[in-house]
Amino acid sequence: MSKSNRYTGLQTTAIHAGEAPDPTTNASAPAIHMSSTFVVEEAASLSAHGLSEDSPFLYGRWASPTVEMLAKKIATLEGTEDCLCLASGMAAATAIFMTLLSNGDHAIISDVSYAGVAELVRETLPRFGVEISTVDMTNLQALADAVRPNTRLIHCETPANPIMRLTDLAAVSEIAEDAGAYLSCDSTFATPIGCRPADFGVDIVMHSITKYIGGHGDAIGGALAGSRELIGRIRDEAVIHHGGVMSPFNAWLIARGAATLPLRMKAHEAGAMAVAKYLEAHPAVARVIYPGLKSHPQHELARRQMNNYSGMLSFQVGDAEAARAVADRMMKDFEVIHYAVSVGHHRSLIFLMETEDLIDTSFKLEGAQLKGYRAFAGDAIFRMSVGLEDAEDLIADLGRVLD
Ligand SMILES: *Cc1c(COP(=O)(O)O)cnc(C)c1O
Repeated sequence: MSKSNRYTGLQTTAIHAGEAPDPTTNASAPAIHMSSTFVVEEAASLSAHGLSEDSPFLYGRWASPTVEMLAKKIATLEGTEDCLCLASGMAAATAIFMTLLSNGDHAIISDVSYAGVAELVRETLPRFGVEISTVDMTNLQALADAVRPNTRLIHCETPANPIMRLTDLAAVSEIAEDAGAYLSCDSTFATPIGCRPADFGVDIVMHSITKYIGGHGDAIGGALAGSRELIGRIRDEAVIHHGGVMSPFNAWLIARGAATLPLRMKAHEAGAMAVAKYLEAHPAVARVIYPGLKSHPQHELARRQMNNYSGMLSFQVGDAEAARAVADRMMKDFEVIHYAVSVGHHRSLIFLMETEDLIDTSFKLEGAQLKGYRAFAGDAIFRMSVGLEDAEDLIADLGRVLD
């Protein structure tokens, strides 16, 4: 921990929170402690339940110093009491569901969410006797109607992958409170710079820190931020018992990335705005969805809830066949942008998401929910993660395949 917390600026926090000069060497940069075990100086309990906040480090799966450094940094950025880092964003999602839900419980999940989460809740949780409802979280009445006496958890994602649809966190948090349910939010696309969900009443903030928080496309990780009590419960189950622990080396890489998160997010937002405006004016582009554009159907909510619109945007170029032809040109002709999955890196990434494909494999939407999805995505949508390159170079690349 830093010596004092007598700073308030976001940039200072991102750099200094969780770290301090090494007390034995005076090294300015944090060390990587790879040790999987720690020498015991007094008899300690060997149960996860015996751990307290000031317990010494005992074994690397339970807690380790470099991973703790990163967790403290993220908790400070999110404005929460505690944070837990895990092996991946999916390990973080699994940790929420497997800790807070039991056989006979009911959970309500956003009908559109990260594909891995969508599949986990639709395929795995029912096998464990958990009832699931999927709801378009922009429809607050549908959400309130979906609440049952056994509803224990509501899980949302804002902006939602891949359609950039927002969830009104303050409104959803009221519904969760009335239901007596926990509210978790996947805030990967927003980052703590764009939105602090805990300020709107969210109990557990989830991140794939593989994305913006790490920011350089070289380490996989996940994080959960929330109250000490709730994060402690999740730590006991998910890290100590289920074992989805983060490697200290990844924690060190991601903490190095996190130190520049506020500066990077400013640049991601500026680049995305320039690219979004270029695309919006391009005759080959049917629609651009970026929360920072006035044309986003929830721009007013974005202004209220987000301090930075992030670098994620989506756009349509016509039907699925037309989009596939553009994707083929991207793979051949792009000089800078990588045609690849993942998001939030300093390198720009783009990927085509075909609606029929996603509905078949991940989302299984029907009726009004399918209509709602198509209202954003049409037949196919390009998801672009605008990196930190010069906007002119990204626009030149897009021009190569769209003009
Ligand atoms: C990537 C991603 C995940 C999953 O994270 P991993 O680190 O790949 O396991 C979850 N949610 C969102 C929004 C993501 O972009």
